[in-house]
Amino acid sequence: MAGSPSIRLGISQCLLGDPVRYDGGHKRDRFLTDVLGRYVEWVPICPEVEAGLGVPREPMRLVGASDVPRLVTITTQRDLTRQLKGFSTRKLGELQALDLSGYVFKARSPSCGIESVPLYGKTGKAKPDGTGLFARAFQKQFPLIPITDEGRLVDPASREYFLKRVFGYHRWSQFTKRPVTRRAVVSFHQAQADLLSSCGRRDRQALNRLVALPARYRPTQLAARYGRRFMKALQSSAGPREIPSTSRRRRKDERSN
Ligand code: SF4
Repeated sequence: MAGSPSIRLGISQCLLGDPVRYDGGHKRDRFLTDVLGRYVEWVPICPEVEAGLGVPREPMRLVGASDVPRLVTITTQRDLTRQLKGFSTRKLGELQALDLSGYVFKARSPSCGIESVPLYGKTGKAKPDGTGLFARAFQKQFPLIPITDEGRLVDPASREYFLKRVFGYHRWSQFTKRPVTRRAVVSFHQAQADLLSSCGRRDRQALNRLVALPARYRPTQLAARYGRRFMKALQSSAGPREIPSTSRRRRKDERSN
């Protein structure tokens, strides 16, 4: 729409075709570059390159416990956890100002994977229990921002589900930039009939209850509650049963990102 602020999405940089992978290659995804890219503004990020690890670099993997995994190079066993975490803290601070409405991560990467990343235990065997270090930090910092990975987006229903949450988040974040009044929250709710129609009855009822008696809350309190509830409703809306991306695409590069 003319005059509307563009929808800005973070993306793992290798998915755009940039040669940032450990071997100097990329993982260009045509749907993202040629289709979705016409409608959104990408904010490309390669955590490993931006953390100073260079290209080419030694491949790495996650090791240890799933709640506190370490990022370790495969051959020389260099522990890069601190380096990657330091970068993540800095970068997430910068991203705060960029107003992202979503993020498409590279599946299975020890830095970018949002789930099912191979996690190696003491025996040297891997379980699909890991989350990439940067992806984990991102989710902690921005729990309401919709995320996905390119593996999930192969499925049209998953695409629709992700994009619906992105549009919802974008609308909400634009809304919160204006002075918030109770009346404005109620109007926002009334204008979301299209997005909320596919949400569960309980979620719709919870939102309806919030705006039915807005005077119970201070305006900022009402807005904060509504925003959390709204994104939760979209998240639990009639999306596809989330199938781990690993089962959609078999990847050859099991060892690293
Ligand atoms: S998956 Fe690896 S190469 Fe791609 S953006 Fe993330 S860290 Fe960089």
